[in-house]
Amino acid sequence: MENKKKMLVELNRKHSDMFMSQRLERELYLAKHPTKILVFKCMDGRIHMPSVTHTPLGIMRPYRNIGGKFDLGWPLLNESFDRSVMKAVAHGNRVLVIVTYHFSAGDEHRGCAGFKYDCAESKRFTENFRQQISRVYGEGNGVVVPILVGLETDKDALIFHGENGDTLDVSTIKDVSEEHLRTTFRSLYPSMPDRILNDLLPLVKGNVEHVAETGSGKPVEDLVHGEWILAVGKGFDWLHTPNMAMIVGPYDPNIGEPITTAAGIIKSNLEAGRTSGGFVLLSSAIYSDAAEKVRAKERSLYLNRLSQEIVRKNYPEMTDLMHSMAVILDSETMRMESVE
Ligand SMILES: [Zn+2]
Repeated sequence: MENKKKMLVELNRKHSDMFMSQRLERELYLAKHPTKILVFKCMDGRIHMPSVTHTPLGIMRPYRNIGGKFDLGWPLLNESFDRSVMKAVAHGNRVLVIVTYHFSAGDEHRGCAGFKYDCAESKRFTENFRQQISRVYGEGNGVVVPILVGLETDKDALIFHGENGDTLDVSTIKDVSEEHLRTTFRSLYPSMPDRILNDLLPLVKGNVEHVAETGSGKPVEDLVHGEWILAVGKGFDWLHTPNMAMIVGPYDPNIGEPITTAAGIIKSNLEAGRTSGGFVLLSSAIYSDAAEKVRAKERSLYLNRLSQEIVRKNYPEMTDLMHSMAVILDSETMRMESVE
């Protein structure tokens, strides 16, 4: 386990170096594509939008929770989401909100455990959430534009749900010319402002490339659950190795529920021998300046204590297998630091 923890520190260091080295690339990308992109997604360790769309790190702002289940009525999410929207608008930018669900074409049991592998239900739920955003910010307002996107995890192909009920599976796109993609997506989203469409197309192109690289499919060990990290809090973009972590965001007022579900999945991974030697409980909080750093430390430590209690209460047999680690993450460098 000590080695696994060291491996995490090393993985974060590598990712942080990469994040720093992509600073100019990121600036350049944002100068060309200023639309703010917010992504709601499942905590499942197989889902990493920057990888599946070939986008530099730090362009998309992720919100994670089990199943990609969210409700804008959650007080913390309600405030945090609105702050992101207002910040983008103050900088003169529009906001594309990508609400996602995921499934596997090959085997329904490689789908979303958060929805008990019920793909229809996950689609219904996430579409309701998309409509909620639309309702709150105004139907067809043209500034905050939420769309529903599925991720088929065998090929990592995105499925775009259009305004008029049509869908488009990226793995079926043959012609990748700018012109063809623009026409296709314009008819899928007739009312989407040009600026947002311009900034959506690179993601589609990136996904076409990614699907081509994935080829006929991913190795089976990347497809099934094998996570051994229970990650709670914010700032986990560096943890994007497939199948390593179940990530629970801090937003659900009933946070005990997603933590319990995530712990249950890790327990079944341990029992089935898909991972061994216990698991790491990793709590994290993110900060951008010295004053916030002090508060971030308290958030991370609190989430760690809370998660430990929840695991002990629901799965007492996992207590001895739990190795806890509390960290804080500098948003400028993505470098993490342990806190005690
Ligand atoms: Zn899921």
